[in-house]
Amino acid sequence: QVSTTPTPVSTVSQYACQRRTTTKNNNKIFTDAFEVLAESHELNDMEGPCLAFRRAASVLKSLPWTVQNLRVTEDLPCLGEHSMCVIEEILQHGHSFEVEKILSDERYQILKLFTSVFGVGPKTAEKWYRRGLRSFSDVLAEPGIRLNRMQQSGFLHYGDISRAVSKAEAQALGNIIDEAVRAITPDAILTLTGGFRRGKDFGHDVDFIVTTPQLGKEERLLTSVIDRLKQQGILLYCEYQASTFDESKLPSHRFEAMDHFAKCFLILRLEDSQVEGGLQTAEEDRRGWRAVRVDLVSPPVDRYAFTLLGWSGSRQFERDLRRFARMERRMLLDNHALYDKTKKEFLAATTEKDIFAHLGLEYIEPWQRNA
Ligand code: ATP
Ligand code: MN
Ligand code: MN
Repeated sequence: QVSTTPTPVSTVSQYACQRRTTTKNNNKIFTDAFEVLAESHELNDMEGPCLAFRRAASVLKSLPWTVQNLRVTEDLPCLGEHSMCVIEEILQHGHSFEVEKILSDERYQILKLFTSVFGVGPKTAEKWYRRGLRSFSDVLAEPGIRLNRMQQSGFLHYGDISRAVSKAEAQALGNIIDEAVRAITPDAILTLTGGFRRGKDFGHDVDFIVTTPQLGKEERLLTSVIDRLKQQGILLYCEYQASTFDESKLPSHRFEAMDHFAKCFLILRLEDSQVEGGLQTAEEDRRGWRAVRVDLVSPPVDRYAFTLLGWSGSRQFERDLRRFARMERRMLLDNHALYDKTKKEFLAATTEKDIFAHLGLEYIEPWQRNA
């Protein structure tokens, strides 16, 4: 039952880290439209408007009620003139003409198609589009194009990895990784993170943090886990990045920059028999297995809390945590550390709660971070 009496909107913060956002979205019709507009601007390399629409969507996602007239949105933060127009269009006509136009635009459709391949970002998609390529078969038949290893496996496993991963499948992968980690280091720490930690029912991949209580052993642990998965014959793809972590460096200003811990981006083979209730689709059932994207990150244990907070997402929640730290507290936060610019010192943390406390923020549970 969706409540129709709006709660006082003056209490909605401009920062996602001061809002509680569950997976229940009462304004999907508006936020879907904003996400199309954000993506379209992203594909045109317009970061400003892209972020503005992402922020607008995020504010509406946090509301426990559905927007039913334009007046209530006037007190909400992050809704600019353009966003208001889109809301007005949707309220009046049930959809936005501007969004419909983007969705039917050929360039948008093709760039979306190309970037849906694992390893293909907006730059590559744009390059292929400008060469006149319009389909996967165009790309694969084009003589001048050399796909890197990631893109090759992206095409090879396209059907499987573009299909959502279920909770049961994430659970089954957790068991496989847990068994591998435990065989190497019995006291290892394994934590499910990303969207599944936020309570989502489906994801595009499964994210885990692996570490050990003994500082410095974590990097060897990750390479051993990879070796073991390879021996088991379930490693379909692996991109491993060794740690470049330097604890004397200040937290990064740039959000999109990856962290420096040892990590790997994998595609694993998941057997039907390993999943409670079996695999989802008829085709996979016949074959008896499916390919799944898995990310593992391995921080030193004293950075565990920062990594957990940083990898639990959502991306919008993470962006706003850092923006809040910088703008409201003169602090720098990333996946490695928290630094107080006034005191000129690093602030240690063993739990996520410690980090929220350092920032003077109320604790937000992982399932309330679906901003
Ligand atoms: P989905 O269900 O679609 O997977 P998700 O929230 O789990 O949603 P991911 O792309 O898996 O999305 O990212 C999970 C979290 O990890 C995000 O908060 C993101 O900021 C962070 N993250 C992802 N990749 C990296 C990376 N290479 N380095 C640092 N952080 C990353
Ligand atoms: Mn994920
Ligand atoms: Mn991921």
